[in-house]
Amino acid sequence: MSDCLFCKIAAGEIPSKKVYEDDVCYAFYDIDPQAPVHFLVIPKAHISSVSEVNGGNAPAVGHIFAVIAKLAKELGLESYRVVSNIGPQAGQSVLHLHFHVLSGRDMTWPPG
Ligand code: AMP
Ligand code: ZN
Repeated sequence: MSDCLFCKIAAGEIPSKKVYEDDVCYAFYDIDPQAPVHFLVIPKAHISSVSEVNGGNAPAVGHIFAVIAKLAKELGLESYRVVSNIGPQAGQSVLHLHFHVLSGRDMTWPPG
């Protein structure tokens, strides 16, 4: 999508601090970290949120979770949280599917 921030980051048109990249997804550190480790994993193809996941694009989402597991092992994350906000009341500010990976501090439940 031409005016989507995360499409531009995935395409390298806007700089980011890359964690990982393959044909399907791109991972990069959050610009406003909420934990000592905080990165985002996004599909390269534009999907607006979890609410737009379907049978056609679900393999990319499954792949992203495999990548999250791999990166967590490589980064030595023993405990971490994966979050995806959907819609304004949940705090979604970028309308391109992304999974936050947060680690390195105690986390509360339920989330705020
Ligand atoms: P959400 O609010 O759940 O939609 O998450 C969007 C996240 O994107 C926030 O945590 C922002 O800090 C992060 N973010 C926004 N712009 C950038 C950027 N240019 N590079 C890295 N992270 C960003
Ligand atoms: Zn996009």
